[in-house]
Order: sequence, then C-alpha cells, then structure tokens
Amino acid sequence: MSRALVVEDDPAVQAALVHALRGLGHVAHAVGTAAAALREAAVGGLDIVVLDLGLPDLDGVAALRMLRGVSNVPVLVATARGDEESVVRSLNAGADDYIVKPFSGTHLAARINALLRRSKSPSAQEDAEREDVVELGALRIDLGTRQVALDGEALELSRREFDLLAHLARQPGRVVGRRELFQAVWGRATTADDRTLDVHTSWLRRKLGETAAAPRYLHTVRGVGYRLTAPG
Ligand code: CA
Repeated sequence: MSRALVVEDDPAVQAALVHALRGLGHVAHAVGTAAAALREAAVGGLDIVVLDLGLPDLDGVAALRMLRGVSNVPVLVATARGDEESVVRSLNAGADDYIVKPFSGTHLAARINALLRRSKSPSAQEDAEREDVVELGALRIDLGTRQVALDGEALELSRREFDLLAHLARQPGRVVGRRELFQAVWGRATTADDRTLDVHTSWLRRKLGETAAAPRYLHTVRGVGYRLTAPG
C-alpha cells in the first residue's frame, strides 16, 4: 500500500484516477491545483504523484520544477496525446515517467507499480554496501555515494541519469540494449515510440560534455543500444 496524490483539475478524470488507485490498494486523494500539490509535497509522506500537465494555476512543467525543489517523490506525468514537446520538457524537469491520456486503468496500474517498485528497490542500498568505484579514463563513478566526476570535476546528475550511467558503467565496453537499459532504470518494458530513454541519454551526454556525433564515453550503437567506454 502506497500513498498517492492525484493532481488534476478535471473532476471526472480526478475521480476516475482516485478510484483506480484505490482499486489498486493504494491510499489516494486528489487536489486540483499546482499550489495545493506543492503544499502537500512539501509536507511529505507521499509515495507517488500523478501530475496533470494542464493545471489552472501554473504551467505543468513549472509546477514540476517547483515540486522537485521540495520533494524527490516519484512523479508520473499524465499528458494529452501527441504532446511530445511537453513530455520531453517534463522529463527534463524531473518527471520519472509519463502516461498519455486517455489511458486504461490497467495501463496506469502498470506504470505506477513499476515506479513504486523502482523507488523502493534496494539497488541504491546494495550499491552503497558494495562501495564500488568504476573509473573509465577521466570519468569516475562512485556507485556507493552516487557521485560522478569528470576530470576531477563533480557532475550534477539526476537520479535517472545516474542510474543510466551506473548500469552502463557496471559493464564497460559492452553494448547494452535499449530494452535492458530501460528495464534496469525504469523497471518496466519500453515501447517503440517511447522517447524517455533518448531524452535522458541526450541529457547525460550533454553533462559528459560530448555529443552523439562526437562521442568520447557514451556511444550510440544505432538500432541496438548504448556502450560506455574510455576514450581512445
Ligand atoms: Ca487539466
């Protein structure tokens, strides 16, 4: 049982979401504005937030940024179909995953369960106990403290960016398939049109100071996946 907050201004959608979440055995309640959501997130005690991007008082992406300022709670963004620009912006602003409206209760359940599984998984703790450090060229990845440095400079990575990098760093040189990578980081299967992995990879790449066209550490293997290696 988890505590879920639904942030949605449409009363019908709000009621359906709360009903679906309660049906899954979660404690769920709803608010209709970003301001109310921020107040609740700041208080804490939430396990997951389902956030509508079209809220009356604040742009959804702005709301997400502010939410991230006060909480690390997993956020599932609910967005209108075809709104790819919003999806990319919301992932960049700290959303963990997104779901396209209209969605079925089954689909919602799958996404929520994957997020909850992931946020409660012991992998971060296991990493801490192993205290592994991977060094590739000038890139140093501390799997225990989740700190990354390049040329001695600390890199600020988001949770997903770190998880991506860490999964690749545990098997340097190996081409890791998109499916495996996605499953490892998001805890669920990906779909052909899912841009989540590409968005996070491009941001990770930018932080590593490289581009897809001129990679040093993070190499794209077209149609297959990604590979992390030391330069040269
Ligand atoms: Ca709305």
